Amino acid sequence: MNLSDQLSITTRENPTKTAYVFQDQETSYQELEGSITKFAASLRELGYEKGDHIALVTGNSPYFIIGLYGALRLGLTVIPINPIYTADEMSYILKNGDVKAVITMDLFVETFEQMAHDLPLIEHYIIAETSPDADWQNSKLSDKMKSFTSLVKEGSLQFDRPTIDEEDIAVILYTSGTTGAPKGAMLSHKNIYSNAKDVADYLQYDTNDKVIAALPMFHVFCLTVSLNAPLMNGGTVIIVPKFSPQETFRVASKWQATVFAGVPTMYNYLLQSSEGHTEDFHSVRLCISGGASMPVALLKEFENTFNVMVSEGYGLSEASPVTCFNPLDRPRKAGSIGQSIWNVENRVVDELGEELPPGEVGELVVRGPNVMKGYYKLDEETAVALRDGWLYTGDMAQVDEEGYFYIVDRKKDMILVGGYNVYPREVEEVLYKHPNITEVAVIGTPDPNLGEAVQAFVVLNEASAVTEQELVDYCARHLAKYKLPTSIDFLDELPKNTTGKILRKSLRQRVTY
Ligand code: AMP
Repeated sequence: MNLSDQLSITTRENPTKTAYVFQDQETSYQELEGSITKFAASLRELGYEKGDHIALVTGNSPYFIIGLYGALRLGLTVIPINPIYTADEMSYILKNGDVKAVITMDLFVETFEQMAHDLPLIEHYIIAETSPDADWQNSKLSDKMKSFTSLVKEGSLQFDRPTIDEEDIAVILYTSGTTGAPKGAMLSHKNIYSNAKDVADYLQYDTNDKVIAALPMFHVFCLTVSLNAPLMNGGTVIIVPKFSPQETFRVASKWQATVFAGVPTMYNYLLQSSEGHTEDFHSVRLCISGGASMPVALLKEFENTFNVMVSEGYGLSEASPVTCFNPLDRPRKAGSIGQSIWNVENRVVDELGEELPPGEVGELVVRGPNVMKGYYKLDEETAVALRDGWLYTGDMAQVDEEGYFYIVDRKKDMILVGGYNVYPREVEEVLYKHPNITEVAVIGTPDPNLGEAVQAFVVLNEASAVTEQELVDYCARHLAKYKLPTSIDFLDELPKNTTGKILRKSLRQRVTY
């Protein structure tokens, strides 16, 4: 079974039901299914075939859903990418991922124009029009450009589906590793199908559910929990193009939403804007938190204010992503990521991979049908992450006697800025390239609004004068906004251990006032 075939089955059972709501317009399963088939047929007409890689670089919109399912129907491998990435970041993934076609929006054409000379492999840019004024037809890439809408309109409904094996790669998710360069986690059709199904079953999704998709769709949390899982069960996806508390309250109330999924910072924003809006959430049966630790005080205040249960879960790109959730039919434990979802095993192990008893802290490892096939073209990194049939998550955790897991700390040094991952090394690499800098280390510091902020420490070469603002401006030319350091300290030298490794712990202590 795969997501695309499942959608056809769901459509047969619920043809006139609303599959998604976008800008207050409803689209039925029947209409969505037709668009997907026609888009897949048009992609085939353009010459694409099973196994080709296609990037999906759009904001939250029907284009994402049709683009994803259309490409999957043809057996293509989809690489979703954050549309606000800079040309540098984007072109790394497009090249590394051997991408042959890009689905994007008129808004982002400029980014592609900047890097096109470096991407000869790309045959087509499929442009979704969001504004009648956009003149992408005059772009210097116009030879390679196709209109998304025309492809959907003109595609044939006669489409012979290729045979898709459950082990074929459906999606590659680029996730930054501690080594700096992003790694492509290869997820098979089985991986993403099984996780969407297990999440839908565990969280009791049904045809009456209306799930608010306010997280970015290119991120696996939204992809599985807010998109694939509800679509699998005949539910409705309420698309929020860009999260804001006001818009979330508005759509929740107008469309009588039943499920909301977000990262903890989103819950914080909703709570801060809750005055006069608590009733807007009255139809919501379940709020889902993941992506980062949910502070217990925030969880409890949110539950009391909105009179709704918040279930925290845990996942990672490499596991499609969900491995744990707080159950709905047993007590939920604040501060815990819950129990293993069905079909997925979680364990806490020591350095030798031996299972630890409850209460002891070790690395969380995961096994199940949701665990990736490996990192694209990175055999060594794959061998480190996948050992003896288990995925090593890099997160430190403990489990209690009742099988509830608790994330203790991140083994890796990832910084979570408002739910977005920032890897220190990525920022360090950019700063290292600055001519006035000799040494740099980046850490995360607590931030009351975003969870964490990026803090850099730099050592300048002798007699060079550069200001903090100049360095931030420099970073802004190479990194997405959320990765920019909010503070840069100038030091004479960085603290190091005897083997010369930078002591991040000491740096962290410096900023813990
Ligand atoms: P990603 O691959 O972008 O989904 O990021 C996965 C990482 O997010 C995990 O390895 C964890 O470090 C972190 N994470 C996800 N969910 C939670 C959670 N509920 N509590 C703490 N950390 C989390």
